[in-house]
Amino acid sequence: MRLRDLGLTAADIKEKVNKYMIETYERYDFLAERAKGMYVYDENDVPYLDFYAGIAVNSTGNCNDRVVLAVIDQAMDIMQTFNYPYTVPQALLAEKVCTTIGMDKIFYQNSGTEANEAMIKMARKYGVEKYGPHKFDIVTAKNSFHGRTFGSMSATGQPDNACQVDFGDMTPGFSYAEFNNLEDFKSKVTENTIGIMVEPVQGEGGVHPATKKFLTGLRKLCDEKGILLLLDEVQTGWCRTGAVMSYMNYGIKPDIVSMAKAMGGGMPIAAICATAEVAKAFTMGSHGSTFGGHPVSCAAALAEINELLDRDLAGNAKKMGEYFLEQARKEIPHLKEARGQGLLLGLEFKDGLNSVDIKHKCLEKHLLTTAIGTNLIRLVPPLILGKEHVDKAIAIIKEAVEELA
Ligand code: PLP
Repeated sequence: MRLRDLGLTAADIKEKVNKYMIETYERYDFLAERAKGMYVYDENDVPYLDFYAGIAVNSTGNCNDRVVLAVIDQAMDIMQTFNYPYTVPQALLAEKVCTTIGMDKIFYQNSGTEANEAMIKMARKYGVEKYGPHKFDIVTAKNSFHGRTFGSMSATGQPDNACQVDFGDMTPGFSYAEFNNLEDFKSKVTENTIGIMVEPVQGEGGVHPATKKFLTGLRKLCDEKGILLLLDEVQTGWCRTGAVMSYMNYGIKPDIVSMAKAMGGGMPIAAICATAEVAKAFTMGSHGSTFGGHPVSCAAALAEINELLDRDLAGNAKKMGEYFLEQARKEIPHLKEARGQGLLLGLEFKDGLNSVDIKHKCLEKHLLTTAIGTNLIRLVPPLILGKEHVDKAIAIIKEAVEELA
Protein backbone atom coordinates (compact mmCIF):
# COMPACT_ATOMS: atom_id res chain seq x y z
CA MET A 1 0.00 0.00 0.00
CA ARG A 2 1.44 3.35 -1.04
CA LEU A 3 0.43 6.76 0.32
CA ARG A 4 0.32 8.42 -3.07
CA ASP A 5 -2.19 5.87 -4.42
CA LEU A 6 -4.40 6.38 -1.37
CA GLY A 7 -4.22 10.19 -1.28
CA LEU A 8 -2.84 10.11 2.28
CA THR A 9 0.19 11.76 3.91
CA ALA A 10 2.69 10.47 6.47
CA ALA A 11 1.05 12.79 9.02
CA ASP A 12 -2.33 11.07 8.39
CA ILE A 13 -0.75 7.69 9.12
CA LYS A 14 0.88 8.90 12.37
CA GLU A 15 -2.43 10.37 13.48
CA LYS A 16 -4.28 7.10 12.86
CA VAL A 17 -1.60 5.11 14.70
CA ASN A 18 -1.76 7.45 17.69
CA LYS A 19 -5.54 7.39 17.74
CA TYR A 20 -6.19 3.69 17.28
CA MET A 21 -3.15 1.63 18.15
CA ILE A 22 -1.99 0.55 21.61
CA GLU A 23 1.56 1.79 21.46
CA THR A 24 4.31 -0.07 23.34
CA TYR A 25 7.07 0.79 20.88
CA GLU A 26 9.29 3.84 20.79
CA ARG A 27 8.62 4.72 17.15
CA TYR A 28 11.23 6.05 14.77
CA ASP A 29 10.11 9.27 13.10
CA PHE A 30 10.08 7.42 9.82
CA LEU A 31 7.50 5.76 7.59
CA ALA A 32 8.73 2.61 5.89
CA GLU A 33 6.81 2.30 2.65
CA ARG A 34 8.86 -0.20 0.71
CA ALA A 35 12.21 -1.99 0.96
CA LYS A 36 14.68 -3.79 -1.27
CA GLY A 37 18.01 -5.40 -0.50
CA MET A 38 20.06 -3.23 1.87
CA TYR A 39 17.64 -0.28 1.80
CA VAL A 40 14.28 0.74 3.25
CA TYR A 41 12.51 3.63 1.50
CA ASP A 42 10.23 6.29 3.00
CA GLU A 43 7.14 7.75 1.34
CA ASN A 44 9.30 10.15 -0.69
CA ASP A 45 11.46 7.27 -1.92
CA VAL A 46 14.42 8.36 0.22
CA PRO A 47 16.65 5.29 0.87
CA TYR A 48 17.71 4.39 4.42
CA LEU A 49 20.66 2.04 4.81
CA ASP A 50 19.31 -0.92 6.77
CA PHE A 51 21.48 -1.98 9.70
CA TYR A 52 18.57 -3.38 11.65
CA ALA A 53 16.70 -5.65 9.21
CA GLY A 54 13.45 -5.63 11.19
CA ILE A 55 15.65 -6.65 14.16
CA ALA A 56 17.78 -9.44 12.76
CA VAL A 57 15.15 -10.75 10.36
CA ASN A 58 15.64 -9.89 6.67
CA SER A 59 18.89 -11.79 6.28
CA THR A 60 18.82 -12.33 2.52
CA GLY A 61 17.96 -8.66 2.06
CA ASN A 62 14.62 -6.89 2.20
CA CYS A 63 12.02 -8.44 -0.10
CA ASN A 64 14.41 -11.02 -1.50
CA ASP A 65 13.06 -12.12 -4.93
CA ARG A 66 13.32 -15.83 -4.18
CA VAL A 67 11.36 -15.46 -0.93
CA VAL A 68 8.76 -13.12 -2.45
CA LEU A 69 8.15 -15.51 -5.36
CA ALA A 70 7.82 -18.47 -2.98
CA VAL A 71 5.22 -16.52 -0.96
CA ILE A 72 3.19 -15.58 -4.04
CA ASP A 73 3.39 -19.08 -5.48
CA GLN A 74 2.28 -20.75 -2.25
CA ALA A 75 -0.43 -18.15 -1.51
CA MET A 76 -1.99 -18.92 -4.90
CA ASP A 77 -2.15 -22.64 -4.05
CA ILE A 78 -3.15 -22.91 -0.41
CA MET A 79 -2.79 -20.51 2.52
CA GLN A 80 -4.05 -22.22 5.64
CA THR A 81 -5.34 -25.70 6.41
CA PHE A 82 -4.37 -26.24 10.09
CA ASN A 83 -2.19 -29.27 10.79
CA TYR A 84 -4.60 -32.09 9.90
CA PRO A 85 -3.75 -32.56 6.23
CA TYR A 86 -0.17 -33.11 5.10
CA THR A 87 1.25 -30.13 3.20
CA VAL A 88 4.23 -29.99 0.87
CA PRO A 89 6.01 -26.89 2.30
CA GLN A 90 5.91 -28.24 5.88
CA ALA A 91 7.48 -31.54 4.88
CA LEU A 92 10.19 -30.06 2.64
CA LEU A 93 11.13 -27.44 5.22
CA ALA A 94 11.24 -30.02 8.04
CA GLU A 95 13.70 -32.14 6.07
CA LYS A 96 15.80 -29.12 5.09
CA VAL A 97 16.05 -27.72 8.63
CA CYS A 98 16.74 -31.03 10.39
CA THR A 99 19.36 -32.20 7.91
CA THR A 100 21.05 -28.79 7.77
CA ILE A 101 21.45 -28.28 11.50
CA GLY A 102 21.87 -31.92 12.53
CA MET A 103 18.73 -32.28 14.65
CA ASP A 104 16.15 -35.08 14.46
CA LYS A 105 12.73 -33.45 14.75
CA ILE A 106 11.01 -30.08 14.30
CA PHE A 107 7.85 -28.49 15.73
CA TYR A 108 6.58 -25.30 14.05
CA GLN A 109 5.51 -22.15 15.88
CA ASN A 110 4.95 -18.53 14.82
CA SER A 111 7.22 -16.32 16.92
CA GLY A 112 10.34 -16.47 19.06
CA THR A 113 8.53 -16.35 22.35
CA GLU A 114 6.22 -19.17 21.27
CA ALA A 115 9.17 -21.29 20.21
CA ASN A 116 10.69 -20.75 23.65
CA GLU A 117 7.38 -21.69 25.31
CA ALA A 118 7.47 -24.91 23.30
CA MET A 119 11.09 -25.54 24.28
CA ILE A 120 10.33 -24.99 27.98
CA LYS A 121 7.18 -27.16 27.81
CA MET A 122 8.99 -29.98 26.04
CA ALA A 123 11.85 -29.97 28.56
CA ARG A 124 9.47 -29.89 31.53
CA LYS A 125 7.31 -32.72 30.21
CA TYR A 126 10.39 -34.78 29.42
CA GLY A 127 11.64 -34.27 32.99
CA VAL A 128 8.35 -34.98 34.75
CA GLU A 129 7.60 -38.08 32.66
CA LYS A 130 11.08 -39.50 32.89
CA TYR A 131 12.10 -38.62 36.46
CA GLY A 132 8.99 -37.58 38.43
CA PRO A 133 6.71 -34.66 39.29
CA HIS A 134 9.34 -32.26 40.68
CA LYS A 135 11.84 -32.53 37.85
CA PHE A 136 10.97 -29.43 35.81
CA ASP A 137 13.24 -26.60 36.95
CA ILE A 138 15.32 -24.72 34.40
CA VAL A 139 18.38 -22.56 35.06
CA THR A 140 18.67 -19.56 32.75
CA ALA A 141 21.08 -16.64 32.55
CA LYS A 142 20.84 -13.26 34.21
CA ASN A 143 20.42 -10.50 31.66
CA SER A 144 18.92 -12.99 29.16
CA PHE A 145 15.92 -12.30 26.93
CA HIS A 146 13.56 -15.07 25.87
CA GLY A 147 10.31 -13.29 24.99
CA ARG A 148 7.10 -11.74 26.26
CA THR A 149 4.72 -14.58 27.05
CA PHE A 150 4.66 -15.97 30.58
CA GLY A 151 7.03 -18.93 30.25
CA SER A 152 9.53 -16.94 28.22
CA MET A 153 9.14 -13.87 30.45
CA SER A 154 9.82 -16.05 33.47
CA ALA A 155 12.86 -17.57 31.81
CA THR A 156 14.14 -14.06 31.13
CA GLY A 157 16.65 -13.08 33.81
CA GLN A 158 15.79 -9.38 33.94
CA PRO A 159 13.41 -8.80 36.88
CA ASP A 160 13.62 -4.99 36.56
CA ASN A 161 12.87 -4.89 32.83
CA ALA A 162 9.55 -3.28 31.78
CA CYS A 163 8.61 -6.57 30.11
CA GLN A 164 8.35 -8.19 33.59
CA VAL A 165 7.41 -5.40 35.99
CA ASP A 166 3.80 -5.21 37.30
CA PHE A 167 2.54 -8.38 35.65
CA GLY A 168 2.11 -10.28 38.91
CA ASP A 169 3.82 -13.57 39.68
CA MET A 170 6.09 -15.14 37.11
CA THR A 171 5.86 -18.87 36.25
CA PRO A 172 7.64 -20.95 38.92
CA GLY A 173 10.51 -23.29 38.10
CA PHE A 174 13.23 -20.89 36.97
CA SER A 175 16.48 -19.83 38.63
CA TYR A 176 19.13 -17.52 37.25
CA ALA A 177 22.92 -17.66 37.04
CA GLU A 178 25.58 -15.27 35.80
CA PHE A 179 26.13 -15.52 32.00
CA ASN A 180 29.61 -16.78 31.09
CA ASN A 181 30.11 -18.01 34.68
CA LEU A 182 30.18 -21.81 34.58
CA GLU A 183 30.67 -22.17 38.32
CA ASP A 184 27.55 -20.12 39.03
CA PHE A 185 25.50 -22.34 36.69
CA LYS A 186 26.91 -25.45 38.39
CA SER A 187 25.88 -24.07 41.78
CA LYS A 188 22.27 -23.44 40.62
CA VAL A 189 21.65 -27.00 39.34
CA THR A 190 19.61 -29.00 41.88
CA GLU A 191 17.99 -32.45 41.89
CA ASN A 192 14.87 -30.80 40.42
CA THR A 193 16.70 -29.23 37.48
CA ILE A 194 15.84 -30.65 34.06
CA GLY A 195 17.66 -28.16 31.89
CA ILE A 196 19.88 -25.15 31.31
CA MET A 197 18.63 -22.54 28.84
CA VAL A 198 20.80 -19.80 27.32
CA GLU A 199 21.30 -17.68 24.22
CA PRO A 200 24.71 -18.35 22.59
CA VAL A 201 24.99 -14.59 22.20
CA GLN A 202 22.87 -12.47 24.52
CA GLY A 203 21.21 -10.12 22.05
CA GLU A 204 18.68 -7.92 23.85
CA GLY A 205 20.92 -8.15 26.92
CA GLY A 206 23.58 -6.10 25.14
CA VAL A 207 25.32 -8.31 22.51
CA HIS A 208 27.43 -10.53 24.75
CA PRO A 209 28.77 -13.70 23.07
CA ALA A 210 29.18 -16.81 25.22
CA THR A 211 32.79 -17.80 25.66
CA LYS A 212 33.84 -21.16 24.24
CA LYS A 213 34.75 -22.35 27.74
CA PHE A 214 31.30 -21.43 29.04
CA LEU A 215 29.15 -23.00 26.32
CA THR A 216 31.19 -26.19 25.95
CA GLY A 217 31.28 -26.31 29.77
CA LEU A 218 27.48 -26.11 29.92
CA ARG A 219 27.21 -28.98 27.43
CA LYS A 220 29.54 -31.08 29.57
CA LEU A 221 27.68 -30.14 32.76
CA CYS A 222 24.35 -31.16 31.20
CA ASP A 223 25.82 -34.50 30.06
CA GLU A 224 27.27 -35.21 33.49
CA LYS A 225 24.00 -34.38 35.26
CA GLY A 226 21.78 -36.08 32.66
CA ILE A 227 19.91 -32.82 31.99
CA LEU A 228 19.08 -30.91 28.82
CA LEU A 229 20.89 -28.06 27.10
CA LEU A 230 18.28 -25.68 25.67
CA LEU A 231 19.57 -23.03 23.29
CA ASP A 232 17.58 -19.97 22.32
CA GLU A 233 18.77 -19.20 18.79
CA VAL A 234 15.84 -16.91 17.98
CA GLN A 235 18.21 -14.02 17.26
CA THR A 236 21.45 -15.89 16.52
CA GLY A 237 20.08 -18.63 14.25
CA TRP A 238 20.24 -19.00 10.49
CA CYS A 239 23.65 -17.66 9.56
CA ARG A 240 23.72 -14.36 11.48
CA THR A 241 26.70 -15.28 13.65
CA GLY A 242 28.93 -16.64 10.89
CA ALA A 243 27.71 -20.24 11.21
CA VAL A 244 24.31 -21.67 10.27
CA MET A 245 23.46 -21.88 13.97
CA SER A 246 25.63 -20.15 16.55
CA TYR A 247 26.19 -23.45 18.41
CA MET A 248 28.18 -24.61 15.38
CA ASN A 249 30.74 -21.89 16.22
CA TYR A 250 31.31 -23.77 19.49
CA GLY A 251 31.39 -27.36 18.17
CA ILE A 252 28.48 -28.46 20.37
CA LYS A 253 24.87 -29.53 19.89
CA PRO A 254 21.86 -28.73 22.09
CA ASP A 255 19.08 -31.14 23.07
CA ILE A 256 16.50 -28.57 21.97
CA VAL A 257 17.03 -25.36 20.01
CA SER A 258 14.53 -22.57 19.33
CA MET A 259 14.59 -20.40 16.22
CA ALA A 260 12.50 -17.61 14.65
CA LYS A 261 13.34 -14.13 13.29
CA ALA A 262 15.50 -14.77 10.17
CA MET A 263 14.03 -18.21 9.51
CA GLY A 264 11.16 -16.96 7.31
CA GLY A 265 12.99 -14.24 5.39
CA GLY A 266 10.43 -11.69 6.64
CA MET A 267 7.43 -14.01 7.05
CA PRO A 268 6.41 -15.03 10.59
CA ILE A 269 7.59 -18.51 11.41
CA ALA A 270 9.43 -20.11 14.32
CA ALA A 271 10.30 -23.61 15.43
CA ILE A 272 12.01 -25.83 17.91
CA CYS A 273 14.23 -28.71 16.87
CA ALA A 274 15.00 -31.52 19.28
CA THR A 275 16.72 -34.88 19.51
CA ALA A 276 14.43 -37.83 18.77
CA GLU A 277 14.62 -38.91 22.42
CA VAL A 278 13.55 -35.55 23.89
CA ALA A 279 10.97 -34.91 21.14
CA LYS A 280 9.02 -37.96 22.35
CA ALA A 281 7.77 -35.78 25.25
CA PHE A 282 5.32 -34.10 22.85
CA THR A 283 2.53 -36.60 22.36
CA MET A 284 -0.90 -36.32 20.70
CA GLY A 285 -2.68 -33.21 21.97
CA SER A 286 0.09 -32.13 24.34
CA HIS A 287 1.01 -29.11 22.24
CA GLY A 288 -0.33 -27.37 19.13
CA SER A 289 -0.79 -24.18 17.17
CA THR A 290 -3.40 -23.01 14.64
CA PHE A 291 -0.91 -21.16 12.48
CA GLY A 292 2.25 -23.10 13.35
CA GLY A 293 3.58 -24.60 10.12
CA HIS A 294 1.57 -22.18 7.94
CA PRO A 295 2.18 -23.25 4.32
CA VAL A 296 3.07 -19.75 3.09
CA SER A 297 5.53 -19.16 5.94
CA CYS A 298 7.05 -22.61 5.42
CA ALA A 299 7.48 -21.95 1.68
CA ALA A 300 9.11 -18.60 2.48
CA ALA A 301 11.42 -20.23 5.04
CA LEU A 302 12.46 -22.92 2.59
CA ALA A 303 13.34 -20.27 -0.01
CA GLU A 304 15.15 -18.17 2.62
CA ILE A 305 17.23 -21.07 3.90
CA ASN A 306 18.14 -22.22 0.38
CA GLU A 307 19.21 -18.67 -0.47
CA LEU A 308 21.26 -18.34 2.74
CA LEU A 309 23.05 -21.62 2.07
CA ASP A 310 23.50 -21.26 -1.71
CA ARG A 311 25.12 -17.82 -1.27
CA ASP A 312 27.12 -18.82 1.83
CA LEU A 313 25.74 -15.84 3.71
CA ALA A 314 27.08 -17.29 6.98
CA GLY A 315 30.55 -16.90 5.46
CA ASN A 316 29.76 -13.33 4.44
CA ALA A 317 28.41 -12.58 7.93
CA LYS A 318 31.68 -13.76 9.44
CA LYS A 319 33.82 -11.78 7.00
CA MET A 320 31.78 -8.58 7.15
CA GLY A 321 31.36 -8.78 10.92
CA GLU A 322 35.14 -8.91 11.36
CA TYR A 323 35.59 -6.03 8.92
CA PHE A 324 32.94 -3.96 10.71
CA LEU A 325 34.55 -4.43 14.13
CA GLU A 326 38.00 -3.63 12.78
CA GLN A 327 36.78 -0.43 11.09
CA ALA A 328 34.62 0.61 14.04
CA ARG A 329 37.55 0.31 16.47
CA LYS A 330 39.68 2.38 14.09
CA GLU A 331 37.18 5.06 13.08
CA ILE A 332 34.48 5.64 15.69
CA PRO A 333 35.34 7.97 18.58
CA HIS A 334 34.14 7.63 22.20
CA LEU A 335 33.80 3.85 21.87
CA LYS A 336 34.07 1.82 25.05
CA GLU A 337 33.86 -1.49 23.21
CA ALA A 338 32.94 -2.93 19.80
CA ARG A 339 31.88 -6.57 20.07
CA GLY A 340 29.77 -9.28 18.48
CA GLN A 341 29.65 -12.54 16.59
CA GLY A 342 29.24 -12.45 12.79
CA LEU A 343 26.75 -9.70 12.03
CA LEU A 344 25.21 -9.52 15.49
CA LEU A 345 27.14 -6.44 16.49
CA GLY A 346 27.18 -4.03 19.41
CA LEU A 347 28.88 -0.67 19.85
CA GLU A 348 29.11 0.37 23.49
CA PHE A 349 29.81 4.05 24.06
CA LYS A 350 31.56 5.79 26.91
CA ASP A 351 29.53 7.63 29.57
CA GLY A 352 28.06 10.89 28.44
CA LEU A 353 26.90 9.61 25.06
CA ASN A 354 23.37 8.30 24.91
CA SER A 355 22.67 5.45 22.48
CA VAL A 356 19.07 6.56 21.87
CA ASP A 357 20.39 9.97 20.77
CA ILE A 358 22.92 8.27 18.51
CA LYS A 359 20.19 6.09 17.01
CA HIS A 360 18.04 9.15 16.23
CA LYS A 361 21.02 11.04 14.83
CA CYS A 362 21.82 8.08 12.56
CA LEU A 363 18.19 8.02 11.44
CA GLU A 364 18.44 11.71 10.47
CA LYS A 365 21.40 10.65 8.34
CA HIS A 366 19.41 7.78 6.83
CA LEU A 367 20.95 4.86 8.70
CA LEU A 368 18.66 2.45 10.58
CA THR A 369 20.02 1.03 13.86
CA THR A 370 18.62 -0.07 17.23
CA ALA A 371 19.61 1.13 20.69
CA ILE A 372 19.78 -1.13 23.74
CA GLY A 373 19.69 0.60 27.12
CA THR A 374 21.46 3.93 27.30
CA ASN A 375 24.90 3.16 25.92
CA LEU A 376 24.72 0.45 23.26
CA ILE A 377 23.89 0.55 19.56
CA ARG A 378 23.02 -2.86 18.08
CA LEU A 379 23.64 -3.49 14.40
CA VAL A 380 22.01 -6.49 12.75
CA PRO A 381 22.01 -5.79 8.99
CA PRO A 382 20.95 -8.14 6.21
CA LEU A 383 23.75 -10.67 5.64
CA ILE A 384 24.12 -9.70 1.97
CA LEU A 385 26.02 -6.52 2.73
CA GLY A 386 29.40 -5.63 1.26
CA LYS A 387 32.32 -3.51 2.43
CA GLU A 388 30.80 -0.40 0.83
CA HIS A 389 27.77 -0.70 3.15
CA VAL A 390 29.98 -1.18 6.20
CA ASP A 391 32.08 1.87 5.25
CA LYS A 392 28.98 3.99 4.75
CA ALA A 393 27.44 2.92 8.10
CA ILE A 394 30.68 3.55 9.97
CA ALA A 395 31.02 7.02 8.40
CA ILE A 396 27.45 7.91 9.45
CA ILE A 397 27.88 6.63 13.02
CA LYS A 398 31.20 8.48 13.30
CA GLU A 399 29.58 11.72 12.14
CA ALA A 400 26.61 11.22 14.49
CA VAL A 401 28.87 10.62 17.48
CA GLU A 402 31.07 13.61 16.65
CA GLU A 403 28.04 15.87 16.44
CA LEU A 404 26.67 14.63 19.77
CA ALA A 405 29.90 14.49 21.78
N1 PLP B 1 14.55 -14.93 22.20
C1 PLP B 1 15.49 -14.07 21.80
C2 PLP B 1 16.93 -14.43 22.00
C3 PLP B 1 15.15 -12.87 21.21
O1 PLP B 1 16.09 -12.01 20.82
C4 PLP B 1 13.77 -12.56 21.02
C5 PLP B 1 13.35 -11.29 20.43
O2 PLP B 1 14.08 -10.34 20.32
C6 PLP B 1 12.82 -13.50 21.45
C7 PLP B 1 13.25 -14.67 22.02
C8 PLP B 1 11.35 -13.24 21.25
O3 PLP B 1 11.04 -13.35 19.91
P1 PLP B 1 9.65 -12.79 19.33
O4 PLP B 1 9.70 -11.31 19.41
O5 PLP B 1 9.58 -13.31 17.93
O6 PLP B 1 8.58 -13.37 20.20
